[in-house]
Amino acid sequence: MITSKGVSHGFVNSKILRIEKNSGLNFFSRDGIIISEGDDNSYLAKYVLSTSKSIKSYQAGISSLDKSFVKSLCVGDIISIGEDGRVNLLWKCGQDDNLLFVTDFCNSKCIMCPQTKIEKPQNYYKEATRIIELAKDKPKYLCISGGEPTFLKEEYIKIVSLIQKKYPHVSLQVLTNGKNFSDFQFSKQCVLNSPVDTLYAIPIHSGNSALHDKIVRTKNSFVLTIQGIINLYKLKQNIEIRIVITKQNYKDLPNIAHFIYWNMPFVFHVAFMGMETHGSAHDNIEDIWIEPNEYIAYLEESVSFLNNRMLNVSVYNLPHCILSESLRKFAKDSISAWKKVFLEPCRQCSMVEVCSGVFATSSRNPQGIHRI
Ligand code: SF4
Repeated sequence: MITSKGVSHGFVNSKILRIEKNSGLNFFSRDGIIISEGDDNSYLAKYVLSTSKSIKSYQAGISSLDKSFVKSLCVGDIISIGEDGRVNLLWKCGQDDNLLFVTDFCNSKCIMCPQTKIEKPQNYYKEATRIIELAKDKPKYLCISGGEPTFLKEEYIKIVSLIQKKYPHVSLQVLTNGKNFSDFQFSKQCVLNSPVDTLYAIPIHSGNSALHDKIVRTKNSFVLTIQGIINLYKLKQNIEIRIVITKQNYKDLPNIAHFIYWNMPFVFHVAFMGMETHGSAHDNIEDIWIEPNEYIAYLEESVSFLNNRMLNVSVYNLPHCILSESLRKFAKDSISAWKKVFLEPCRQCSMVEVCSGVFATSSRNPQGIHRI
């Protein structure tokens, strides 16, 4: 998340606001916030952001903000403002990689989860609703994530139905462990209330239920996830299977590929993924980390098995330079722009335009990154 901290003036509660053009006619808008240059005509605005040290005494706002942060904000962006002066960018106007983070809670405890373990998890369904209500642009793509976004089922349905009403043609991607979709009636309600072009991205960590549950660290997860996938298939939904490669499952990749082909050849897409070593993944790094050069042969076998059987298969989050020639054509530029970084060898690399790079958020990156 792009974030910065300044000095708070007059905020008693946190707020979610949309950046508005400073027209001099911003008559105390309750939804909008103006970027003030100090001696400009922003005096009619109720809320202001400023890089200078103070703001007008009758206004609420954040002063002393970092100049480059303020410069990166545009009219239509949506931000949250904390009483402590923290400003978070929640929605980038005109961009297609906006993500609605709806909850910290999850009904799994995956060993390689990139989320940070939080002492007091919270729900953000209301905040997500506010973002959708405030947004003025029309995104082509949108993603819902968590935690487990369906953790509070009714709240999840409210969010997707709001998206369906406002953006009926958006391509919506839902990052879910699929377990709540084992409830057919809930799945049906979700499908009826979601945009037509909704893709459910669901992880399978093994073709073997015991290993899957060991990685997820929650009993019965495999059975529930598979039941969820079958229900979504019955409801004619697009499903992407995601396989995060860890020390626990890298030898099982070909079994996973066989499991998918023989049991769910209907899936829209299969993605084999490099790890983001952040949050719990970072805490468990010594147990889960495996260098890509140790699993490339298993990955090649799995990708080629599925591709030869006409399944749509990709490799996410792994740079071209650590993949074999045969795998490079499956590699996607899959890391969100704000999370992606290129290292020193990338400077003169011919692949930089198409490569995923590596996670800026990861504490460990694959060995052997080199210019091509
Ligand atoms: S050197 Fe950098 S840009 Fe080139 S393939 Fe490797 S990670 Fe990608």
